[in-house]
Amino acid sequence: MASDAVRARMVQRLAAQGIADARVLRAMGTVERHLFVDSALVNQAYEDTSLPIGLGQTISKPNVVSRMIELLLGASALAGKPGDRLGRVLEIGTGCGYQAAVLSHVATEVYSIERLRGLHERARTNLRPFRLATVHLLLGDGMIGYAKGAPYAGIIAAAGGEAVPEAWITQLAVGGRIVAPTQSATGGQALVVIDKTARGVERRILEAVHFVPLKSGIA
Ligand code: SAH
Repeated sequence: MASDAVRARMVQRLAAQGIADARVLRAMGTVERHLFVDSALVNQAYEDTSLPIGLGQTISKPNVVSRMIELLLGASALAGKPGDRLGRVLEIGTGCGYQAAVLSHVATEVYSIERLRGLHERARTNLRPFRLATVHLLLGDGMIGYAKGAPYAGIIAAAGGEAVPEAWITQLAVGGRIVAPTQSATGGQALVVIDKTARGVERRILEAVHFVPLKSGIA
């Protein structure tokens, strides 16, 4: 598959949809999304659609991945330094490993945690050829975060629960930001952005989204 041209078109579409951060567009143009999906789905890898990755889970649409990472890069820790990389990032829900690969291009260190052994192992296999020394894959329950890597400049979740777990807020650095799907007042799901500042914790609810559920324990 001549993926470079197809990927470049995906990036053009993302820009047209309003993704403006050059770091995000560059990362989306770099990571070969088709290498993370089942061979039967390769032809859809660059369409703006979520795709099944096994065990009932899905890889998010490119637009949603870009939007969330763009929000993450808006953390006040980076204010005034728009060209910089984010520090340590925690991703909840490794899935196939695609978003972890994208994150590795915008953050200095990525800790990505998955509760399903089958997907944790699939992500390991998928990521091996990329030799990303800064990506650390963990099998565990992301609802309790990963204290050993804390504090994080950013925490991004690919699964949505009733509320953002307190552990994530505890493990967030001052100046850091959480971007996560969470249950909204109307019963659906919405993106929430949580900033930890010297003055306290600030929350903003953004647009509606559709993510797989955040579940506890490993399986
Ligand atoms: N970022 C992924 C998308 C994965 S879908 C990618 O690029 O492919 C969301 C994932 O979150 C699923 O694999 C699901 O098993 C996982 N998940 C749900 N609850 C979790 C938890 N408490 N801890 C870790 N992973 C969790």
